[in-house]
Amino acid sequence: MNQQSGAILVLSGPSGAGKSSLVAKIIDDIGPTYFSISTTTRPMREGEIDGVHYHFVSVEEFKREIEEEMFLEYAVVHGNYYGTSLGAVKNALKEGKLVIFDIDVQGHDAVQNRLSDITTSVFITTPTLEELKRRLHSRSTDSEEVINKRIEMAKREVQRISEYDFLVVNDNLDEAADVLISIAKAARMKIPTLQINEFVQLWEANA
Ligand code: 5GP
Repeated sequence: MNQQSGAILVLSGPSGAGKSSLVAKIIDDIGPTYFSISTTTRPMREGEIDGVHYHFVSVEEFKREIEEEMFLEYAVVHGNYYGTSLGAVKNALKEGKLVIFDIDVQGHDAVQNRLSDITTSVFITTPTLEELKRRLHSRSTDSEEVINKRIEMAKREVQRISEYDFLVVNDNLDEAADVLISIAKAARMKIPTLQINEFVQLWEANA
């Protein structure tokens, strides 16, 4: 029964921890999924495509979407707005897909408040702060100022790991991907409270 109902997998963790590479690596091995494309007001990075990596909008447009209650959650991260649009997520859940969110700790908090019974969450990080700094510098898509902001943010975010169901330390990409595949498969099997009640009634009715 739970195969048909959708579920949510929240991935959080510092920029540079390898969330995108991990998702790309596991996406073909975890069944029907919908990767939620967030809306953001941050400037597009080199190599990013509007509508693929994010929906890039102006602050005015973002505020209009807030007023129209189009977001499941939104937050200010590194001084820019980021939000998850409700419409596409609802459709994907109806189709029984595993909806994957790459959102920050504030977004995770909001999703847990609204949809905890179908949500599984994972915090992904590097083995050490030093390794995170190394990766952020070698990626070299951001200025020193932005990198420093991300490092400060990461230090605050790791303090909230205990709010997550799982911690994945991305030391070795293949090993971390294997762990994440197991978690994603289990996330799909999570049963919403309503369905548990239905199941118990049916189970008892067939004495
Ligand atoms: P980046 O600018 O590196 O793409 O993302 C910065 C941070 O924003 C990451 O921690 C990412 O998880 C978070 N983020 C991306 N989209 C959303 C969203 O829709 N909602 C929230 N709350 N955080 C987001």
